[in-house]
Order: sequence, then structure tokens, then C-alpha cells
Amino acid sequence: MSVAFISHSDCGRHDTGWNHPEHVGRLRAITRALRNNPELFDAVEQIEGRHATTTELELVHDSAYVASIEHISQLGGGQLDADTVASEGTWAAATAGAGCVLAAVDRAMASPNARSFCSVRPPGHHALRSRAMGFCIFGNVALAAHYVRSFHGAGRVLIVDWDVHHGNGTQALVQDEPAIHFVSMHRWPWYPGTGAADDRGPHNSVWNVPLPPGLAPEHYVAALESAIDSATTGFTPDIVLISAGFDSLNGDPLGGFTLEPEHIAQLTSRLVKRAQGWCDGRVVSVLEGGYNPDRLAEGALAHLNALK
Ligand SMILES: [Zn+2]
Repeated sequence: MSVAFISHSDCGRHDTGWNHPEHVGRLRAITRALRNNPELFDAVEQIEGRHATTTELELVHDSAYVASIEHISQLGGGQLDADTVASEGTWAAATAGAGCVLAAVDRAMASPNARSFCSVRPPGHHALRSRAMGFCIFGNVALAAHYVRSFHGAGRVLIVDWDVHHGNGTQALVQDEPAIHFVSMHRWPWYPGTGAADDRGPHNSVWNVPLPPGLAPEHYVAALESAIDSATTGFTPDIVLISAGFDSLNGDPLGGFTLEPEHIAQLTSRLVKRAQGWCDGRVVSVLEGGYNPDRLAEGALAHLNALK
């Protein structure tokens, strides 16, 4: 079997409180849908991830910030930013989320075509070096990009982010390293307000694709694929990381894009095909947003199926 579904029971311990859109029911919806699809369930390997270590987290975060998250959790939690909270279980959840992604990277680098989808929370692509932001605590995908370069000797990394929000945290954490190319498609103007097309980062290694809501889904697919083409012209990645946000699906309460699960599947299978040409099919995908649990589950299953 080549495709893994990686998660960790501690990801459920991040308690955001009543009526918060980023809740544990999101992960449960994905797991339930997977269990109800015996064919896909049998085709993927279920793996319990691990916790990231403090040293690993410090590849992208200030040590004082990492320590503060542990401390706040020990105290029972607290408010981290306007819409990001910590609970007693947040340290366990956030380190598990990041650790699942690192486990997926280890797996991808151990053998060709060992792709994974990490069903984790809290999400990561808004997290900054020393600040939580937008439901995110640790920059899971940015961490994976630096980790694969530091611990596996990979040179070039491509990150593709199709969450409906700009991956401002990922951009901030990778844009100083020109061997990491970052492509983000997002609604604009929209939260968090960054991600203009002319923001290419200090090394022109960032491709932002800001788009209005309500376009035909094919438009979003074509725009993202064109940006991936630009980002990989004369640049052959050693691994592809996906920030898979399912809030870009039609019907998401925080979105406005019109993608259907079939478009997620299309983007995924085309990216897998390209990765097979570039880097023995090494792809690690990580859950970001997606706030309509039913749609999230449909999108995640279509994505997982296309990763096979
Ligand atoms: Zn989002």
C-alpha cells in the first residue's frame, strides 16, 4: 500500500469552545466518512502519528513562543489571538499535528510513491514565527519543508496551498529560503488580507494567486495549475507538500470559492502525476481549513482517493 491516512488521537484534545468553527467534529467527520467507504478504507494504511519535539518546532518557531504554548496549556488554556484559543489539551494536539506531518515526511522519503494525507488539527498555515493566528498554532507545512531539507537532505521543496485563505504564515516561514517554492491560491481581498499577486517574497520564490469569489470552478483549477507551472519552470522539487484546505469548496461558511470534490480530485491527481515525474511521486498533504464538516469529509475523501 502506498497511501497513508495519518492522524493522532491527541489532535482531538484542542478544545476551542462552543460554536468555534475549528472544532474536533471536523476530524470526526473525515474519519466517519472514511469508515463508511470500505473500498477506500481498505486501500489506505492507517497510521497513528507522533508528537513533534521542541527542537523540531524550533526549526520555524522562536523557542520562547514554543515554551509559551506549553505553559498556557499547562495553565488550562487562554486566548492566543482574536480567534485562536488554547485549552489544556492544545500542547498535546498541536505537537501531535506537527508530528504527524513529520512522520509523513519520513515515510515519503523512505520509499517512492509513499504518499500521505495528514488529518490533523489545529491547522497551521497562518501561524507565524512567534505568534498564533487564524486558528493556527504551529506552521505544520512550513516546518515539514525545513525538516525535509535539514533531516533528509532534500534540496528543493514545492508547497501548494489551495485553502481559501492566504497561507501568510507559511509564506513568512519559507520565503527567505529560495529552494522552497510556495504557491498559494486564495480569495482576495479576504482574511488575512495578505497575498497580493505582486508579493513574490524577497527571492521571487512565492506565487500568490488572489481571486474573487464565485467564479466557475474551472477558473480556480486553471489559475492554480498555471501558477504551479510557473513555480516549477527550471525547478524540479524533491518533494511536494500540499496545504489542503477544504474551505475552498462550494458551501463553506468561511469561503466563497466554488470547488466541488471532483475539482479537488482533479488538482490532486494532476499534482501526483507531476510529482511522479519530478520526485518519485513524493507527496505529503496536510489538512488546513474546511468548516462545513460534511463538505470537508467529501473533499478529503476525494483527495485521499486521488492520492492513491
Ligand atoms: Zn482557510
